Amino acid sequence: MISGGWNRREILSAGGIAALAGLWRPRQVLADSTTQQPALRVAHLTDIHIQPELEAARGFAQCLQNVNAMEHRPDLILTGGDHIMDGFRQPKERTARQWDLWQSVLKQENGIPIRACLGNHDIWGWDLKKSQTTGTEPQHGKRWACDILGLDRPYYSFDQAGWHFIALDSVQPSTYFDTFSAFLDDGQYAWLQQDLASVPATTPVLIWSHIPICSAVVNHLASRASIHDDSTVKASHLHADSLKLVELFTQFPNIKLCLSGHLHRCERIELKNVTYYCNGAVCGNWWRGVNDGYAEGYALLDLYADGGHDLRYVPYGWMAATAS
Ligand SMILES: [Zn+2]
Repeated sequence: MISGGWNRREILSAGGIAALAGLWRPRQVLADSTTQQPALRVAHLTDIHIQPELEAARGFAQCLQNVNAMEHRPDLILTGGDHIMDGFRQPKERTARQWDLWQSVLKQENGIPIRACLGNHDIWGWDLKKSQTTGTEPQHGKRWACDILGLDRPYYSFDQAGWHFIALDSVQPSTYFDTFSAFLDDGQYAWLQQDLASVPATTPVLIWSHIPICSAVVNHLASRASIHDDSTVKASHLHADSLKLVELFTQFPNIKLCLSGHLHRCERIELKNVTYYCNGAVCGNWWRGVNDGYAEGYALLDLYADGGHDLRYVPYGWMAATAS
């Protein structure tokens, strides 16, 4: 199920073109990336969940050391949200301690530019009761995380090395008290339409969000009370506006990739000419070891000028203190 080890070179050398013809766009298979240098190398680090316990700070440091020491060091780190264990249900002091840890590890261990997107656990105090907040604090909600991560607002775009990058903000308040749903509100959706329309058709686009826009894993994991249970995937696990976004993306053939986290599992989906990757978790099973077979790791992504891309999942060798 995990496809983290695939890249075009391996597929070519395995002679698997015919077998993969139904899965893989011919343009990508036939492009000769063995001689083409990537325009950009990106590390996607998602679901770090830093906390004072379980040696999480040392684990995150080891991950950053691994990324920074690479022979062909990434030009850019994209973080995929859930930087801290949790602020959603935590009081101010506990949230501050986690963000302090985040900043101190980064300062010590990282020399690569970072662009971030927000996860549900980065939001401070939406659970008013458990976080002991009123909702009127200046740092309440997404503001605190945005300030730490250097963002004016939690969705934005930028250009680098001939690619266009779009960070989406998946997490919106739900109609249920103290919970959230994954979707783009009207303002963000209108902005996304405008942003995509402003990108030249020849510029490849990468979109990243905390919560997946497409996923098979969420269906696979959906727990059903019986075989007659028609319950659907939760709106907190998968973008509830998945259909709307996938249809929007069909208008822009230059959209190549969508990256996500949230599930702490790896998967790759090809749908309507876009490749959707969910890229595991730096913390694995929230710093308690491997999660459902997926080790603590990050994705290493090479982006090519022609819109081609290779991605593999890189376990960085963390041995959780509590792993059995
Ligand atoms: Zn997470």
